[in-house]
Amino acid sequence: TRDNVRNFLKRNAFVLLTVAAVVLGIMLGFGLRRYDMSLREIKYFSFPGELLMRMLQMLVLPLIVSSLVTGMSSLDSQASGKMGVRAVVYYMVTTFIAVFIGIVMVMIIRPGGGHRDSPVPTESKIEQIQAVDAFLDLIRNMFPPNLVEACFKQYKTQYIKRLVKRTVKTAVNFTDATNTTELPILANVTQAIQTLQETITMEEAVPGPGSSNGVNALGLVAFSMCFGLVIGKMKQKGQALLEFFDCLNEAIMRLVAIIIWYAPVGIMFLISGKVLEMKDLAQMGGQLGMYTVTVIVGLLIHALFVLPLLYFIVARKNPYLFIGGLLQALITALGTSSSSATLPITFRCLEENNKVDKRVTRFVLPVGATINMDGTALYEAVAAIFIAQVNHMELNFGQIITISITATAASIGAAGIPQAGLVTMVIVLTSVGLPTEDITLILAVDWFLDRLRTTTNVLGDSLGAGIVEHLSREELQTQDIEIGNSVIEE
Ligand code: ASP
Repeated sequence: TRDNVRNFLKRNAFVLLTVAAVVLGIMLGFGLRRYDMSLREIKYFSFPGELLMRMLQMLVLPLIVSSLVTGMSSLDSQASGKMGVRAVVYYMVTTFIAVFIGIVMVMIIRPGGGHRDSPVPTESKIEQIQAVDAFLDLIRNMFPPNLVEACFKQYKTQYIKRLVKRTVKTAVNFTDATNTTELPILANVTQAIQTLQETITMEEAVPGPGSSNGVNALGLVAFSMCFGLVIGKMKQKGQALLEFFDCLNEAIMRLVAIIIWYAPVGIMFLISGKVLEMKDLAQMGGQLGMYTVTVIVGLLIHALFVLPLLYFIVARKNPYLFIGGLLQALITALGTSSSSATLPITFRCLEENNKVDKRVTRFVLPVGATINMDGTALYEAVAAIFIAQVNHMELNFGQIITISITATAASIGAAGIPQAGLVTMVIVLTSVGLPTEDITLILAVDWFLDRLRTTTNVLGDSLGAGIVEHLSREELQTQDIEIGNSVIEE
């Protein structure tokens, strides 16, 4: 049995290390809290975590491009078409279920029920966004006019950003004009605004190439897919390019295998840094606390019951075993708050632990990480209805439908970076005429909910890969026979 234990430890070393990193990170963070470190000191302290984040982001861009190009070109167009349809149907169905769960939960729990803790701000002076603008922006971004620029600059949220800025300004005026002590739920609004401003600067600081913060992932995904399809059709002539991207992909995955050794250290510091930074939990009482609980319960139902059930129904395999293989990716999502930074680890978990066919992961994962965000969609619906409840606004059936549609669109449009969902909330709120400055109501807990919804997002993408693989097994087999699976095999 000693050999058994040793084997078990060997096989699960990474997972155990990663779990240990989370526990240690939390303990370390709480242990150091009594020293009352300044923000600057905390920043220095979490530097090893920042490095992990940057290393992962560094790989995202070449990973997305190389995996999609090889993924698309290694399938014939019929097979990739079928697979694409399955993936999109899965994304849509699960996102809608997530939104539905969110709406039901927020209607039952009514976290914003009762009376509003603060006076309703008089007439918002904020420019209204039309839902149609948001949709057009989404489509616009699929066609980046400058591919190089798309690699480091995200202009998708440009106008939303402007709007949020104005929202913040309004909120500041609003708090100045009213007596803060009478606003329990807004008591931390200044702090909250600071957080929002940090989010904005993070996005505005146009990062250099190699950082995924500013990547227009949607544009790159669209381009790489078309590019891969075309190369695949070029047969012999496209072989050189195909091999180039295949080699690039393999090289990146080897880098991932190295970085993964560093991941537990990085995650530990990311988590303890966040625990240190955390404000007092006292503010979590009342409506905000109930709102947090609502989102968490919704996410748990979706992630632990609905998605696994779907996987079981379709693939007839134990979903929790599958999820066990994903543990590292899920913890990385929790640590980084970014599904795109987690992407390299998600790839590794699916391919190495769960043995999902590379033709499926290469195709489905980058797309999923970009557009399939169940957790974000659920959260957007809950948050919007919560804000309506706080404002005593009774939503009619049509408005609820509008919220579910715009929450879906907002989750597609949100980039896989920390707190992107908070920014796209603006679309949902304006679509039913809710005051956008009320985003500040939910700011204080957003960093926390962001981690949980990112984890749900990554889980949804991964189970999706498993489901699509199962549904596509026939096409994959035919392809294996036809082309001898020459390029993909190592
Ligand atoms: N942080 C989330 C993600 O990367 C997006 C969001 O803010 O909801 O998946």
